[in-house]
Amino acid sequence: MSEFSGPSDTCPDGGESLDYYGCEQVIAEVWTLLDGECTPETRERLRRHLEACPGCLKHYGLEERIKALIATKCQGEKAPEGLRERLRMEIRRTTIIRRGQ
Ligand SMILES: [Zn+2]
Repeated sequence: MSEFSGPSDTCPDGGESLDYYGCEQVIAEVWTLLDGECTPETRERLRRHLEACPGCLKHYGLEERIKALIATKCQGEKAPEGLRERLRMEIRRTTIIRRGQ
């Protein structure tokens, strides 16, 4: 299926920040956010990746939700329970899909 060929095909290569901060790490970082940690560094990395690599999370349909999560968490608020749970499930599902390829 050419439509689902993985984020590495949709991510621009050679971007300065993408060299060391790839899509895999973005997903891992989102897990950290869900567990309650959000440093300014994390937020900045995620934000920059989303800007530089629009195909990445959009590919998973998670972009808007993750942006909402970042906005919420980084203001020191608790992410709404519903958002947390939905993200957990969707990230788990997409991670499983990718590993199964
Ligand atoms: Zn990406």
